[in-house]
Amino acid sequence: MREARKRVGPKRARIRPVIERLAIAHQDAAIALTFRSPLELLVSVMLSAQTTDVNVNRVTATLFEKYRRPEDYLAVPQEELERDIFATGFFRQKARSLRGTMQMLLERFDGEVPRTLDELVQLPGVARKTANVVSSELGHPEGIVVDTHVRRLSQRLRLTRQDDPVKIERDLIRLVPREDWGRFPHLLIWHGRRVCIARMPRCEDCVLTDLCPSSRV
Ligand code: SF4
Repeated sequence: MREARKRVGPKRARIRPVIERLAIAHQDAAIALTFRSPLELLVSVMLSAQTTDVNVNRVTATLFEKYRRPEDYLAVPQEELERDIFATGFFRQKARSLRGTMQMLLERFDGEVPRTLDELVQLPGVARKTANVVSSELGHPEGIVVDTHVRRLSQRLRLTRQDDPVKIERDLIRLVPREDWGRFPHLLIWHGRRVCIARMPRCEDCVLTDLCPSSRV
């Protein structure tokens, strides 16, 4: 591995070309959730825990016709909301979090979705990762979203030696230029889905082979 690292050079020198090449290769890289407002974004991200974006979009296509304002989530019995989000899994916990969040939006934030990470993590059931995705999509990235793809690719590209998402994020924040905090995770996620696949990375089709210590070609 030391040989490979020597071949590709230090990560500080590699990060910009990595971002630039991925941006060209994945020009469509963006969040895969469908939403029309900050509220729909927040709900979609909360529902996306432990399930796929495709599944969430399927559920929210009808959900968002029925629930348009924070008040709407509180106007029905909890069981009704649970039924409406059932297909996303963990529906009891998610319904509880959604109702708690809507309550707090109304009481503390005038019914609006706050923009900052500090405010977002106060919402019930909104962890740092959810808050990061929401603030980033709303144009105020304050951190870097680390999901399973970002974790795997950051490790394969040796941008971090850490395994814990919080520590990986800390490493990435030091390395990735601030203006790229929003798009960087999308680029890694799409590269991870299309090329640097978990079980079988397709190095022969990768634009990063000369910058990646894990390249097999
Ligand atoms: S060269 Fe291979 S391991 Fe490295 S990022 Fe590309 S696909 Fe992944």
